[in-house]
Amino acid sequence: MSNPCDSKIQKLLPIEDATNLIRRQLHPTSGSERLPLSIALGRTLKDPVFARYNYPFDNVSSMDGYALNTQNIDTSQPFQLKNCGTSWAGKPYPKKLSSGQCVRIFTGAVLPQNTDSVIIQELVSVQNDIITFPENLVLKDNIRYSGEDYKKGDLLLPAHKKLTAVDLGFIASTGIYDVLVFRQITIGFLSTGDELTPIGQPLSSGKIFDSNRHTLMGLLNDPCYNCSDLGQHTDHYETLKKTLQDASHQYDVVITTGGASVGEADYIKDIMDEIGQIDFWKIAMKPGKPLAFGHINASLFFGLPGNPVSVIATFQQIVEPALKQLSGSAPTTRLQLQAKCLTPLKKTPGRKDFQRGILKQNSQGELTVISAGQQGSHILSSMSGANCYIVLDQQCSSLPAGQWVTVEPFSCFIFE
Ligand code: AMP
Ligand code: MG
Repeated sequence: MSNPCDSKIQKLLPIEDATNLIRRQLHPTSGSERLPLSIALGRTLKDPVFARYNYPFDNVSSMDGYALNTQNIDTSQPFQLKNCGTSWAGKPYPKKLSSGQCVRIFTGAVLPQNTDSVIIQELVSVQNDIITFPENLVLKDNIRYSGEDYKKGDLLLPAHKKLTAVDLGFIASTGIYDVLVFRQITIGFLSTGDELTPIGQPLSSGKIFDSNRHTLMGLLNDPCYNCSDLGQHTDHYETLKKTLQDASHQYDVVITTGGASVGEADYIKDIMDEIGQIDFWKIAMKPGKPLAFGHINASLFFGLPGNPVSVIATFQQIVEPALKQLSGSAPTTRLQLQAKCLTPLKKTPGRKDFQRGILKQNSQGELTVISAGQQGSHILSSMSGANCYIVLDQQCSSLPAGQWVTVEPFSCFIFE
C-alpha cells in the first residue's frame, strides 16, 4: 500500500532544482556605467581591472634606519660609515653613495642608488654623522622591491567582482580613478493582503501589520539594486493585475509577498497565468513552501509567500542569488559549517529545513548551536534572535541533542 505522505513529498520541488531552473534562465543585465571609485562600493565590475604601475613603484624602505651598500664591507665585524644625507618618504636622496657612506632613510622612502640594505635605527649607534653598525647584520632586509605586490599590466580584479572596501583601496593603489560597473537593476516590490495595516496606524481585530514590506526593504538594500516600494495592496484581482502590469513596464524585477498559495483570495498564480508566464512551485523547503517565478513582459517576477519568516528564507535562498546573477556578480555559495547542536530539533521528513539557530564559539574554537526557539513561519522573534540557519536535509527527521549539524551563519560575527 502506498504511503499518502509519499505523493505529497513528490510534488515538492527540491530547492536546488528551483535554484538551477532560475539560474539557467537568467543573464546579467547588459547595461553598464562608469563610476568614480568614491561611489563604487558594493557595485559589480563589468570589466577586469589591470595595474597601471608596478606596486611598489620604486624599491623603498620598509623601516626607519640607514641605507648602505654592503658589497665591499666585512659585515662579520662592527663597522662605521658616514651619514651623508637623508632619503625621506616623498623626497628621495638624489645622489649616488660613495664608499664609506650611508644614508638616513625613513619608511616608504626610495632606496638611494647603489644601496642594497636597510639597517633599522635601533641596531646602530650614532655619534654626530658617524654611524656604527654591529657585526653579523641581516643584509638585503627591510626593502620593499618594485613590483613585489603586482607589476604593471597584471590583472588586479576580474570582471563580475562585487567591490569591497579592500578592493577600492586595491584599485586606488594603482591610481585608477573610475571603474566600469554593471548598471543597477531596478526592482519594484509590494505586499498583498486584505488583512494588512500600514505601520504607525492602530490595529483592529482580524488585521495584521504589513511587516513583510519592511523586511524586503532591508533585504534589498544593496548598491547593485535601485528599489521602489510599491506599497501594500488588497486582494483584488483586477487592481492587482493592473499594478503588476504597470510595474512590469518600469522594473527589471517585480517582487510580491502574500497571495501566492492556492486559497480563494490567493490571486498571484491566476494573474500571472493571465498576464505573464509562470512557473509555480511548491518548494521542498521549510519555512517557505509556495513560490511563483516567471515573467511579465520583459520583467522578472518573484511571488513570495506571505508568512514573514518564509519571505526571509525564500528571499535569501532563492531570490537573492538570482538578483546577484542579474546584477552581474559571479556565483557564490553560502558558508556552511558543522556545529554541535545542544538542543533537540523537531523535524518531519519531506522538506529541507532552515531552522533558526544561535551559533556560539567557545574558547577552544568549537562551534555549538542551539535552537533559537519556536520555528513557526509566522514567528519573527526567533528569526530576529537567531544568527544562523540550522540546515537539515529533506529526508532528515527529528534529532536528539548532541548531534553535529550543518549551520549557515548570517554573518561572520557571532554573539559573545
Ligand atoms: P498568504 O500567503 O497571503 O496566504 O499569507 C500567509 C500568512 O502571512 C497570513 O497569515 C498573512 O496574514 C501573513 N502575511 C501576508 N502578508 C503579510 C505581510 N505583508 N506582513 C505580515 N504578514 C503577512
Ligand atoms: Mg493573503
